[in-house]
Amino acid sequence: MVETRNLFQAVVKIAKIKNEAEGVKSFYFSIENFNYKPGHFVMVAFPEEADDKKKRRAYSIATSPTETEKDGFIGITIKLVEGGYFTTRIHDESIVSVNSEIFVAGPFGHSIFNDKEIKSAVFFAAGSGIVPIRSAMKYIYDKLPHVNVTLFYSFKTPKDFIYEDEIKQMLKDKRFKGFITVTRYDGDDWKGLKGRITRDLILDNVNGNEDIFYACGNTPFVKEIENVLLNDLKIEKPRFKSEAWG
Ligand SMILES: Cc1cc2nc3c(=O)[nH]c(=O)nc-3n(C[C@H](O)[C@H](O)[C@H](O)COP(=O)(O)OP(=O)(O)OC[C@H]3O[C@@H](n4cnc5c(N)ncnc54)[C@H](O)[C@@H]3O)c2cc1C
Repeated sequence: MVETRNLFQAVVKIAKIKNEAEGVKSFYFSIENFNYKPGHFVMVAFPEEADDKKKRRAYSIATSPTETEKDGFIGITIKLVEGGYFTTRIHDESIVSVNSEIFVAGPFGHSIFNDKEIKSAVFFAAGSGIVPIRSAMKYIYDKLPHVNVTLFYSFKTPKDFIYEDEIKQMLKDKRFKGFITVTRYDGDDWKGLKGRITRDLILDNVNGNEDIFYACGNTPFVKEIENVLLNDLKIEKPRFKSEAWG
């Protein structure tokens, strides 16, 4: 069941746009009293098409509520999909720039965790699946000093590293561990891991006693992670949450 709460639905102005990686941009806007948690998403559309639900697209909220409290901005991060109806237009600077208007509705979906119930979290991201995980990690970093985080994050090449600076910054905190891997790159200039997030990589670095496990990325990726966690690590299903797209 999809939870909805204090549903906001209106046209807002884009206040900031940031290039995150190749073909990946973040868009920021302000909405007063917009209460959300890591894991929630918004529906977005071009204002003139907002009444047509087929033209709306879902985007996970990339910012943490702790950031929104401070600067008032809510951010989403959108990866350009070749031939995609919505993404090719929102990425086109002749169509969308700072001060352009966009329809936003939300927040929808489920929060990834309950603040009071976790001491440790394990996140698995492939490509743009890092978006809700960024929100969760930043929230934990800012607000839950007793929570340990393990991140597994894969993307194709170094230029696809979304939130590189922010993630590297968080990983300097001793509560945060990261296994970051490129899947289609051979260059010596990449000092991190190479190849996919494998069963062995997971089993060598996670013991199964962690409180929550969350995977986000394309459907085969999420299924693969689920398989390792439930069948090899034997975690109970309620401790595994996921979001899949693409
Ligand atoms: C809950 C939820 C949260 C989401 N959060 C994000 C997010 O934070 N960032 C983000 O970029 N996207 C996110 N998405 C995906 C997003 O809603 C769109 O599906 C995506 O941006 C493509 O829209 P489009 O109109 O350009 O493509 P469409 O015109 O709808 O699709 C074009 C073609 O591309 C395929 N396709 C769609 N998405 C992908 C993809 N990611 N990779 C490869 N092929 C794809 C489709 O199957 C289709 O064949 C989320 C989806 C859901 C359901």
